[in-house]
Amino acid sequence: MKIKACSRCGSRKLALMELPKEKESYPHSELMDNLVAVRYLCGDCALIDEAVVFNSEEDWRRFLDVKNQSRI
Ligand SMILES: [Zn+2]
Repeated sequence: MKIKACSRCGSRKLALMELPKEKESYPHSELMDNLVAVRYLCGDCALIDEAVVFNSEEDWRRFLDVKNQSRI
């Protein structure tokens, strides 16, 4: 099972947000018309960003460990 987490605090309390595509940014690209920007709102730190995806809970815990160590 894949795990999505916040890239800043590692929280898994994420709310999916589908932001409207920014057409003005790509005025000459028809390809971009089909794109919807997918972002996640973190329930803990309120960061809105792409989620970090882990293949397993172990990988996610390792990510949290590294984050905790770098905070010291
Ligand atoms: Zn967060």
